Amino acid sequence: ALTIGIVGLPNVGKSTLFNALTKNNVLAANYPFATIEPNVGVVPLPDSRLTRLAEIFGSERILPATVSFVDIAGIVKGASEGEGLGNKFLANIREADAICQVVRAFADDDVVHVDGKVSPKDDIEVIETELILADLQTLEKAVPRLDKEVKGKKADKAVLDTALAAQKVLEEGSTLYAAGAAAGVDPDLARSLGLLTTKPFIYVFNLDEDQLADAGLQASLRELVAPADAVFLNAKLEMDLMEMSEDEALELLQSFGAEESGLNQLARTGFHTLGLQTYLTAGPKESRAWTIRQGWTAPQAAGVIHTDFQKGFIKAEVVSFADLDTLGSMASVKSAGKARLEGKDYVMQDGDVVEFRHS
Ligand code: GDP
Repeated sequence: ALTIGIVGLPNVGKSTLFNALTKNNVLAANYPFATIEPNVGVVPLPDSRLTRLAEIFGSERILPATVSFVDIAGIVKGASEGEGLGNKFLANIREADAICQVVRAFADDDVVHVDGKVSPKDDIEVIETELILADLQTLEKAVPRLDKEVKGKKADKAVLDTALAAQKVLEEGSTLYAAGAAAGVDPDLARSLGLLTTKPFIYVFNLDEDQLADAGLQASLRELVAPADAVFLNAKLEMDLMEMSEDEALELLQSFGAEESGLNQLARTGFHTLGLQTYLTAGPKESRAWTIRQGWTAPQAAGVIHTDFQKGFIKAEVVSFADLDTLGSMASVKSAGKARLEGKDYVMQDGDVVEFRHS
């Protein structure tokens, strides 16, 4: 499964946020396939369509898609010097598909800031610098090796070119993700070299309660990290929300001028950043969302349920959620001629409710 690694300086609210994330694991206990490790938080992707499907099909349970977050402790200023970033830290971050930095914006004099002052911009730079230095160290070793291998025709020149282009970007102080495609660094090749800053970044700003409704502040923080995605929340409040019913939680959030929980935002943003989408299945047993990559075809999507469904794929019977919602039953959708049979080249669309026919 795809995971997002959570990093941040000490005392920014990582553990607080992570505790809220792992409380969510109670919800995920429904998932027999999810082995939950202590440093992994599984967050359901909110999807009101599943509630409606469960109503239409009389489903016994609802299974939303999930996003997994891994707590990656251990990054501080200077971490890449001396001993280098800890091995465990590096291994964890290498495995993550995206990097989520928690950044402190809340004031609170009772909570010490490691650098003595609250400055989101400086904190982001500290973490970025450590990751950039780690990548430069990786390249320092890789470039001479690749150079030899290319000369000996044991490696593709494109890999060496990627390494050199990456080195240039990093030396200028940018992450590979922020530099983007324009820098001529192929992201897949960069990843195969073990470079960390090619991964997509998400920023979570941990705000004071009274900053939750401060649109001006949020706009400026969003601008600071663009094109990366930004999420705004109050980590302590997220903990409290976990103890409440959905209605109580919503009421409390609205009293602070927020519309939904930070964890919901985080799940949605994570999904978007990872380039994922869902399709839906529904029946009397369960209404369920399945995670696929954007652009996947019907047989690839079927393979998420079972590899046999992909191998023996015949057709996908597809209806759109919007039609089901309007017409209120599968029978009405069919008699209105709105059920489609799609073949192996069909590209899955958001809101597809599917039944696969397979041999
Ligand atoms: P970590 O070192 O990044 O894991 O930070 P912690 O989650 O341990 O938080 C450090 C301190 O900041 C703790 O005393 C938290 O209670 C406090 N804290 C965390 N989030 C917030 C917040 O949103 N507002 C305020 N005022 N304090 C917070």
